[in-house]
Amino acid sequence: LNSARESLYIVSQFAANFFEDQLWNSADGKAIGLSYFKERGFREDIIKKFNLGYSPDVWDALTLEAVKNQHSEEFLEKTGLSIRNDKSKLYDRFRGRVMFPIHNFTGRVIGFGGRTLKTDKNVPKYVNSPDSDIYHKSNVLYGLFHAKKAIRDQDNCYLVEGYADVLAVHQAYIENVVASSGTSLTIEQIKLIARFTQNVTILYDGDAAGIKASLRGLDMILEEGLNVKVVSFPDGDDPDSYMHKVGAGAFKTYVEEQRQDFILYKANILLAEAGKDPIKKAGIIRDIVESIAKIPDNIKASVFIKECSHLLEIEERVLLTELNAIKVAKS
Ligand code: ATP
Ligand code: MN
Ligand code: MN
Ligand code: MN
Repeated sequence: LNSARESLYIVSQFAANFFEDQLWNSADGKAIGLSYFKERGFREDIIKKFNLGYSPDVWDALTLEAVKNQHSEEFLEKTGLSIRNDKSKLYDRFRGRVMFPIHNFTGRVIGFGGRTLKTDKNVPKYVNSPDSDIYHKSNVLYGLFHAKKAIRDQDNCYLVEGYADVLAVHQAYIENVVASSGTSLTIEQIKLIARFTQNVTILYDGDAAGIKASLRGLDMILEEGLNVKVVSFPDGDDPDSYMHKVGAGAFKTYVEEQRQDFILYKANILLAEAGKDPIKKAGIIRDIVESIAKIPDNIKASVFIKECSHLLEIEERVLLTELNAIKVAKS
């Protein structure tokens, strides 16, 4: 006899199989879904590795097929795969989208992200499964199941924003990569990474939103006591678009060569914003020292203070006074 949670896993796996079968074997799936992935430059081995799929552009393809196969409406609804309309009839949440199944770190399917193929700005680009008894968005990292061995081996975890970024980085033969898809990075997700490594490298989008998210993310990661590096991408590019632009080999080289310490990254961004204004520069120094103050290890923090002192041409003593003031204010 299955528990209710087990039934949710089973219907989620059924849906993943259905979407994947549609992608490879149905006329629309091949003509619309598979060709979409191929036009974006994804290789077949990557499409298969991540069990990508296609949801037919009709109201109830999955729901009908699942019910036909003895899956109960209750579990279809509880996973969010089906939604009940006001006439109490079930319809599919995901329609006419390419599908990214989300696995937990033991490899079981727990939810989905679905990307629209339409360019219409009124249609949400991604639709994600709602939280359920088996899927808690804020505790899940997309790609962790496929990355965990490489994260341990490389003793580093690359962190990206989106589903497509995870695939593209894999395609560049870098397998230690996860995404905080569908939410902004959470403490739970950082703790999950910390089970495998103490080193995180942020590869966020090179747009204003990505830069802002990376600064927020790096403070949270520092606070958990992990080491943070950052690779920035040209404005308008994300890891996915950049990889397809330059190719797998050049992408790997770029990531390894452009990797910089969080302090250097943060200082460069803030200094560019402030220009020559001395008052703004003072604000930046405070902002960076605030990041350093989040580092629990005092010895590490003092190394970064030294680095910061060189970088911003401020006496170490002044920075240490500021650091202590922040720490006192926080305690
Ligand atoms: P693509 O390359 O397919 O266009 P992306 O991953 O680059 O997508 P972004 O706009 O950079 O898309 O968003 C990053 C991530 O945020 C997405 O992968 C997705 O997980 C999530 N996301 C984006 N738009 C939405 C949305 N409208 N609703 C829910 N989640 C979204
Ligand atoms: Mn973005
Ligand atoms: Mn993006
Ligand atoms: Mn993208």
